[in-house]
Amino acid sequence: MKKKKFIFVVGGVMSGVGKGITTASIATILKARGLSVTTLKIDPYINVDAGTMNPTEHGEVFVLNDGYETDQDMGNYERFLEKVLPNDNYMTTGRVYQSVIERERNLEYKGKCVEVVPHIPLEVIHRIEKAQEKAKADVTITEIGGTIGEYQNILFLEAARMMRNKYPGDVLFVLVSYLPNPSKVGEPKTKPTQYAARTLNGAGIQADVIVARSEIPLDKKRKEKIAVFCNINENHVISAPDVDTIYDVPVNFEKDGLSDTILSILNAKDEAKESDLTAWKTLSRKIRTLEKEVKIGIVGKYFETGSFILSDAYISVIEAVKHAAYANGRKPKIEWLNSIEYEKDPKKVAELSDYDGIVIPGGFGSRGIEGKIIAIKYCREKKIPYFGLCYGMQLMVIEYARNKAGMKDAHTPEVNDKTPFPVIDIMIEQKERLKNKDYGGTMRLGAYPATVKKGTIAHKAYKKERISERHRHRYEVNPEFIERIEQAGLIFSATSPDKHLMEIAELPQSQHPFFVGAQFHPEFQTSPFAPHPLFHAFVKAAKEREEE
Ligand code: GLN
Repeated sequence: MKKKKFIFVVGGVMSGVGKGITTASIATILKARGLSVTTLKIDPYINVDAGTMNPTEHGEVFVLNDGYETDQDMGNYERFLEKVLPNDNYMTTGRVYQSVIERERNLEYKGKCVEVVPHIPLEVIHRIEKAQEKAKADVTITEIGGTIGEYQNILFLEAARMMRNKYPGDVLFVLVSYLPNPSKVGEPKTKPTQYAARTLNGAGIQADVIVARSEIPLDKKRKEKIAVFCNINENHVISAPDVDTIYDVPVNFEKDGLSDTILSILNAKDEAKESDLTAWKTLSRKIRTLEKEVKIGIVGKYFETGSFILSDAYISVIEAVKHAAYANGRKPKIEWLNSIEYEKDPKKVAELSDYDGIVIPGGFGSRGIEGKIIAIKYCREKKIPYFGLCYGMQLMVIEYARNKAGMKDAHTPEVNDKTPFPVIDIMIEQKERLKNKDYGGTMRLGAYPATVKKGTIAHKAYKKERISERHRHRYEVNPEFIERIEQAGLIFSATSPDKHLMEIAELPQSQHPFFVGAQFHPEFQTSPFAPHPLFHAFVKAAKEREEE
């Protein structure tokens, strides 16, 4: 494209309206017009990265190939765009301030007073430009976290405003808003959206496009109202009703001609080709026609927020299960199981028999751990397909050591450092770090290669020996106990290339249809068009159980 273009996506009315999916979907429809796109996420927290944020508050920590711990929306972008994103595409308030302060300490401001404005917004702009350059993107889409009107994201809005002056005609603002539809009123209300658009005006920004999220599609009357009161063209109000699957959103946006609207505003329509969303249309059709279910239980702990249950902490796991289910021709039915219940009443674990497969995802600390071990034992004995991710793999090794390798009270020092059998142990380089309270960004993080042993379930799934997977852990299988565990029948079917770190554990298929654990996080590398091989194999085993 002749000139580079920038889009900012901001949210109005409330959080959780789907800015991330909107951003990913806008990127998708522009990509489908032959443009190169990249997406950035701005997280207004002071935390330097998402690694230190509580998953119940902030949602999942999504790890990039380069090891950076980011927001779950980065996962949405990668899954929609089938692209590996670098850490340049993620920033928090803390990270921005950190760079400015480092520069100041290095005298890079040459004795000038360093001020919040303009130096913080300038740093933000610098980062957006750098991400654009690195990706050689025609269109760079930046999602600004938080909601319009709150204090936290104001400096990022200021950066966006300054960019509009720096690149006149080449910057566009999308406001993702929400229209409540109270049952007692009987119609979707536009007033909160009007306020959001005006608050945005107060930051010096006029929205160009309003994506109106609502339970139901927007009618003409509502579109007109939003157009008049928010100062925009009626065709620039996009109806974004709730959908059965997020993978319908790009196609839905195009029903309202969104890519045309965006490209016209940016004066770039001539430079784009006709839209080709064939793959997405096929995917949506496929998802809609799936009839038979596969029922997967996820045993975890980061579900509760007050009296409510949220699944945000496991978003990539959910998507990975969905992708694998679609590829296996099944409708995914995912349910949440709280391991603490099995600690209170071990008999309750029998409910796992109702599922075709069980996943235990990653986690930290000691809450609910014994319940998870009870669940793993049950899956092993009852031959229910089991897939353990990171902590879910470590606990699988602990269960096996305790109940099959004669190591009563085997444990991980993360929970019990007095155990006589620390079959999981802290990695040597991690010990020092913890001693120095060096917690942030210091786990074993990001993509590392591993070697898969032939003739194993893992090899059958990957169909190759050399793989690369993303990690996020401090503990590992303790080399001292490997022989004993293997003698008792568990196989380590993938290791680091130097064979020091155990990457996948499994039982032979002759003993169990699918009892597999991965020290890494396979859920971080999956897309609806290319499900992760291990999830695919797991759901296949689950489907076979259902068929029996
Ligand atoms: N708590 C475990 C560790 O630090 C597992 C981490 C995880 O599941 N991501 O090794």
